[in-house]
Amino acid sequence: MKDTAKHQGLRNQLVKQLEDKGIKDINVLNAIKKIPRHLFLNSSFEDFAYQDKAFPIGAGQTISQPYTVAFQSELLQVEKDHKILEIGTGSGYQTAVLVTLGAKVYSIERQNELFKTTKLLLPKLGIRPSHLTFGDGYKGLPQFAPFDSIIVTAGAPIIPQALLSQLKIGGRLVIPLGDDVQVMTLLVRKNETQFEKTEFGDFRFVPLLENKN
Ligand code: SAH
Repeated sequence: MKDTAKHQGLRNQLVKQLEDKGIKDINVLNAIKKIPRHLFLNSSFEDFAYQDKAFPIGAGQTISQPYTVAFQSELLQVEKDHKILEIGTGSGYQTAVLVTLGAKVYSIERQNELFKTTKLLLPKLGIRPSHLTFGDGYKGLPQFAPFDSIIVTAGAPIIPQALLSQLKIGGRLVIPLGDDVQVMTLLVRKNETQFEKTEFGDFRFVPLLENKN
C-alpha cells in the first residue's frame, strides 16, 4: 500500500490530460491529483493505473476511466456536505473522489465480492463514506433519501423511477443511459413532478443489472 513520488508524478500527468480533454472543475482535478488510483487496482495493473483507461476489478466489472469519473463528478456540482447517492461502488475510486470533495456519500454495490473488498479498502486509505450497502441500486436507498445528487456508474437501460423520487428539488441525477453505448444524461429536479434533461455525448459502461449477486 505504497504511494510514492513516482505515482504522484504520474497522477499530475493524468490530471493534465484530463484538463486537455476539457475537465475544468478545480476541486475535481485536485481530488484526482490526491487519490492513489493504483491502490484501487490489483497490483498487476499498478504500472497502468494512471493511464486514462478502465481496468478489470474482478466479478466481470471495471473501474471507470478517470475521464469518465471526472466528467460525472463535474456534472454533479458537488458542494461540501452534499448528501450523494452512488449506484455501483465497484472499486470505490469514484466514491473516494466524492468523499474527497467533501460529500457525504451513500453507495450501493450489487456484487458481494466487490462490496466486501471495497468496504475493507476505503478506511485503510483514510476514505470514510457515510454508508456502503450491498444491494440493488435500482431501488436506491429510500431510508436515507432525499439526496442532493445521485450518480449511476453503470449503463442503465432505463431511468429507475425510485432514483428520481429520492432526489431533492433542485437535485441532480447523473446517469449513463443506453444498452451498448450510453448517453451521459443529467436530470435536474425542478419540482415534485418535473425534471429538466440534458444530454452529454457517448460513454461506455458495464451494465446496470437488477437484483444482487
Ligand atoms: N464507480 C465504480 C464503477 C464500477 S463499474 C468504480 O469506479 O470502480 C459499475 C459497478 O456497478 C459494478 O461494480 C457493478 O457491479 C455495479 N452495479 C451494476 N448494477 C448495479 C445495481 N443494480 N446496483 C448496484 N450496483 C450495480
